[in-house]
Amino acid sequence: MIDPEVRCPCLSGEQYGQCCGRFHSGEAEAPTAEQLMRSRYAAFAVGDEAYLLRTWHPSTRPRRIDIDPEQAWRRLDILRTTAGGLLDQTGTVEFVAHYRHHGERGSLREHSRFVREHRQWFYVDAL
Ligand SMILES: [Zn+2]
Repeated sequence: MIDPEVRCPCLSGEQYGQCCGRFHSGEAEAPTAEQLMRSRYAAFAVGDEAYLLRTWHPSTRPRRIDIDPEQAWRRLDILRTTAGGLLDQTGTVEFVAHYRHHGERGSLREHSRFVREHRQWFYVDAL
């Protein structure tokens, strides 16, 4: 858990408790695919494995996730999104997530697919 008043790790500029923290706690559902993506990135940053599992579509969800505590997620850049809005059932988000691991810088670039079922967005897989 992190302080709800700190800046959200997704770097939206909002406080964690007003941003991804609301989704992590279950208080609210991410309304768009991009917000789900940001909240999943933030879940990696704060170590919330349960949130990653519950926002992973059951058809592709792994049995467990082990977040590497040595991998420090530093920045998320959203490159491009398609659909994924309030009235959509599918969407994609292309992003680059930057991290440090044992002092080395690295980045992960992915084009992720999302679906919405029962008003809830899920991560499906990478294109
Ligand atoms: Zn956030």
